[in-house]
Amino acid sequence: MGELDRREALQLFGVGLLAALHPGGFELVSRMSRRAPGASLLRALEREVRGPLYTRSEPGFGGAAEVYNSRYDDVRPLAVLRAAGARDVQAAVQWAAKNDVPVAARSGGHSYAGYSTVRNGLVIDLRSLDRVTVSSGSRSVRIGPGARLIEVYAGLAAKGLAVPGGTCPTVGFGGLALGGGYGFASRALGMTCDTIESMRVVTAGGSLLTADEDTNADLFWALRGGGGGNFGIVTRFTVNASREGSAAFYSASWPAGATEDAIAAWQGL
Ligand SMILES: Cc1cc2nc3c(=O)[nH]c(=O)nc-3n(C[C@H](O)[C@H](O)[C@H](O)COP(=O)(O)OP(=O)(O)OC[C@H]3O[C@@H](n4cnc5c(N)ncnc54)[C@H](O)[C@@H]3O)c2cc1C
Repeated sequence: MGELDRREALQLFGVGLLAALHPGGFELVSRMSRRAPGASLLRALEREVRGPLYTRSEPGFGGAAEVYNSRYDDVRPLAVLRAAGARDVQAAVQWAAKNDVPVAARSGGHSYAGYSTVRNGLVIDLRSLDRVTVSSGSRSVRIGPGARLIEVYAGLAAKGLAVPGGTCPTVGFGGLALGGGYGFASRALGMTCDTIESMRVVTAGGSLLTADEDTNADLFWALRGGGGGNFGIVTRFTVNASREGSAAFYSASWPAGATEDAIAAWQGL
């Protein structure tokens, strides 16, 4: 086996204990100690996809593996697939299931908990799926999960539209929307997930589904705020944007101990 992190070491310890206490536990032990797929299996995946696959020996691997929080710099995936479309995501999920490789989806890579990278697993990076498409005369907007918030805001503002989102320009729309999404505009417009009309989702079985109020409604419900990486990999969002003109924001601060006065003044505005 390769390097282990704390979670894997604890899992291994627990499974070893189970194996000692229960006859069926030995099957689990053999699963835990299964070797990572070799170069030929990775090449098989590469042949099935359109987007680039960065394996550890590729020059671009370091950059492709990096996430926003340098705390996770030591987490080395087996490979990073920069998916070129939903079909790549399907192929990668099916390949990973067949070869027992853990996967992590990534949009903007800003997960606080490091959930968009995976030690000895496959990262399915969606940052190339970053199109923001506004149909003329409509408030329905298609947004790729890999679009950064600043790209979404800029693309929509050019058409007099807006969706509520977060304050960090480089957060990915995918992770933000699936986790809820709260920002400056949320008091007026709600959370990002409330604006979603439908999604295209690749399930753990590798199927590509639509999830909306009428189709796979339970999945639609769970995806809107249930957290990224839990119920499938979203390859496209359709959201209902609001017509907005201009907007402004400000911040206020006051001396410690003056909170009561500040709130009273605020209420009087
Ligand atoms: C500096 C900073 C500022 C922030 N500000 C705000 C804010 O103002 N408002 C707010 O609401 N949040 C804010 N957040 C939190 C942020 O919204 C979440 O961390 C969000 O999950 C990041 O999305 P991402 O796509 O960049 O991250 P990623 O790390 O790519 O993904 C986050 C999680 O979602 C999963 N995931 C990603 N894409 C998909 C997909 N397409 N399908 C399925 N699962 C997927 C990943 O596997 C991971 O579990 C902030 C975070 C940071 C680091």
